[in-house]
Amino acid sequence: MSFISHRINLIKPSPTLAVAAKAMEMKQSGLDVINLGVGEPDFDTPVNIKNAAKKAIDEGFTKYTAVDGTRELKDAVVRKFKNENKIEYDLNQVMVSNGGKQAIYNALLATLNPEDEVLIPAPYWVSYPDMVLLAGGRPVILETKPENNFLLLPEQLEVAINKNTKWIFINSPSNPTGAIYSQANLSALAQVLIKFPHVLILSDDIYEHLIFDGEEFYNIVNVEPRLKERTIIVNGVSKSYSMTGWRIGFAAGNKEIISAMVKIQSQVTSNPCTISQKAAVEALAGDQSFLATNLETFQRRKNLVHKMINEIPGLSCGEIDGAFYAFVSWRLFHDKKTPNGKVMASDNDFANYILEEALVAVVPGVAFGLSGYFRMSFALDDHVVTEACNRIKRACEKLN
Ligand code: PLP
Repeated sequence: MSFISHRINLIKPSPTLAVAAKAMEMKQSGLDVINLGVGEPDFDTPVNIKNAAKKAIDEGFTKYTAVDGTRELKDAVVRKFKNENKIEYDLNQVMVSNGGKQAIYNALLATLNPEDEVLIPAPYWVSYPDMVLLAGGRPVILETKPENNFLLLPEQLEVAINKNTKWIFINSPSNPTGAIYSQANLSALAQVLIKFPHVLILSDDIYEHLIFDGEEFYNIVNVEPRLKERTIIVNGVSKSYSMTGWRIGFAAGNKEIISAMVKIQSQVTSNPCTISQKAAVEALAGDQSFLATNLETFQRRKNLVHKMINEIPGLSCGEIDGAFYAFVSWRLFHDKKTPNGKVMASDNDFANYILEEALVAVVPGVAFGLSGYFRMSFALDDHVVTEACNRIKRACEKLN
């Protein structure tokens, strides 16, 4: 007999967190493991932001707030969208949640009925399909191709839409590939979406500030304002401001959907942490110079990783346009053997081999819905990233 619900049996634990746990276990047993499995910047949260949180505690700002965030933070979110994205929202069109993750889950729970389908381009962020399943919907995976830089093509979108389609997810820059939808890419998708007014769009902009080589960020609302009423934009302070542990995300869009999302949050978690909200106000409204310094560092590491990985015979990685991940093809090692005779037959085989032989933790591509790859984060110090690439190279040289 199991006490566990059918719904829970539909989902799996987050694979990226599982890799992190295994790497941590190996570390604790004394092994010098480099963990490239995690999705968080290595920088400390900026001092001005930490000070705002300390001040909140000292001033007793430690009680419940409005479920959808304080007026002060919601004002800062509205201003952020206006100034950075040129999109105007009223206060009742935005809400603050416990990380971008909760905002996405709220949006799904608020809208999905049984039979509803959610179109998810693969490779995708690991949590999307499981969140859809938890919320009672059906994830429909649309596989993208490396030759299209892992971007969803408008013709693919058009044939995938049917009467049950409720959402399309767009994540740019993408986790795990770093791919970015340009204005032209978004405009082509928008032309399809305009024809299907029953489809909602979830624009996950969480890596907005991590865009390389001077490229600019756009989301689908910038490109096609007629889609604003049926787009929910999700963003947050986790990645941009090195605040993953503070758990502040936000969503903006259709006020009926936002209000349903707030209703769910009111019954499930109430407001996001009061102290973190004060910190997030400082992140969004305070000194922004951290963003440029941060980006410069990531740009340098991106160049380093891209070069080092592509110099390893058998591995390859296309352009990395944003975020802090390389999505690396290991296909040429398929069916090759380790010195112990173990055949490389799957992403898990390859990632396990790299973990055990090179002591480098990476995430198997299958976790993101596309096999033949692994994802490595480069949100670590340059010398650590260099050492990890050298170790991966030596491990690859032993396969034949
Ligand atoms: N969206 C994407 C694509 C992500 O990679 C993440 C975190 O890894 C999130 C959303 C959620 O971020 P958080 O809940 O930490 O704000």
